[in-house]
Amino acid sequence: MSDIILEVDDLVKHFKTRRGTVRAVDGIDFSVERGKTLGLVGESGCGKTTVGRTILRLIEPTSGRILFEGRDITKLHKSGLRSYRREMQLIFQDPYSSLDPRKTVSQIISEPIIANKLFRSKREVDDRVAELMATVGLAGRLFNSYPHELDGGRRQRVGIARALAVEPKFIVCDEPVSALDVSIQAQILNLLKELQMLFGLSYIFITHDLSVVHHISDEVAVMYLGKIVEKAPTEELFENPLHPYTKALLSAIPIPDIRHKRERILIRGEVASPIDPPPECRFARRCDHAFDACKEHPELREVSPGHLVACHLMDSQ
Ligand code: SF4
Repeated sequence: MSDIILEVDDLVKHFKTRRGTVRAVDGIDFSVERGKTLGLVGESGCGKTTVGRTILRLIEPTSGRILFEGRDITKLHKSGLRSYRREMQLIFQDPYSSLDPRKTVSQIISEPIIANKLFRSKREVDDRVAELMATVGLAGRLFNSYPHELDGGRRQRVGIARALAVEPKFIVCDEPVSALDVSIQAQILNLLKELQMLFGLSYIFITHDLSVVHHISDEVAVMYLGKIVEKAPTEELFENPLHPYTKALLSAIPIPDIRHKRERILIRGEVASPIDPPPECRFARRCDHAFDACKEHPELREVSPGHLVACHLMDSQ
C-alpha cells in the first residue's frame, strides 16, 4: 500500500486584480508518495510556482485542501504553521539572489538552526553546520566564505544545506538547477537524489524543463494555465504522452543519438492570459487538434492505471 505524505485536493489560488481575476491555480488534485518525487512541469505563468508556495502556506489558498501526513494544513494557525514549516522546506531557483550576500556560509546555514533552537551552544551549532556542509559536498574551508566567493553550484549546495538544517520531510524544489550550467545541473540533481535516499525525503520538483524532470521524478504532472493537463509515472509519460501539449513539450527535447530524429511539434502563439479564461479547453487556441467538443473544458480522467489526461481526444478511445 502506498504511503501518501502530501495530498492536494481541488486546490485553487485566484488573485483579484484591477483587470479581473487571475486564475493562477484553478482546481488541481495530486498526491506525493513518501520518499518519492513529483515533477511539476509547464511554461512560465502556468501556475506551478504558485502551487509550490501555496503548499508551503507562503501564500494562502483561495480554496481546497492540502493534507500533510493526513492533516489539513490549510486550517493551521501560527504555532501549528511554525512546526509545519520545519517539516516542509523550499529550495529556491536562483542561488545568486537567494543567499544574503552579507552573511558567511556558516551564518546562512546556521540561521534556521538558531531560529528553531535546535542546538544551544556555538560549538554545537558550528559542528552541525560542518556536518551539513559535508553532507552536501561543500569543503570545510568554505565555512567563512561569502556567497560572492562561490560558483553557482556551490551556492545552490549552501541553499540545500540550509533547507536540510531543520531536518525536513518534504522539500519543494523550485527550478533549483535552471540558473546553473548543464554540467553543474547534473551534479545538483544527483545530490538531491542521494539526499532523498539518505533521509527518505519527498520532493515536489518544479521546472519548465522536461529533460530535468526525467532525471529526478517518479511521477510527472504537466500544468497549463492553472490546470493539470496530464499526469503519469515518469517513464509512461515519456514513452506514451497523450495530451497535445505534453507531446509538443517532449518533441522539443533534443535526442543525443543523431541516428534518431524526432519531429518537432511547434506550439502556435503565446500562452493565453490567466485572467478570466474562457470556458473552453485552455489549450484550444494553440491546439492543432481542437474540435467542437473543445468548447467545453475537458476533465482530467484516468485513461490507463495511473495515467490521467484532460483532453476530449481521449473520449473516443
Ligand atoms: Fe486540443 Fe481539444 Fe484536447 Fe484541448 S481538448 S488539448 S483543444 S484536442
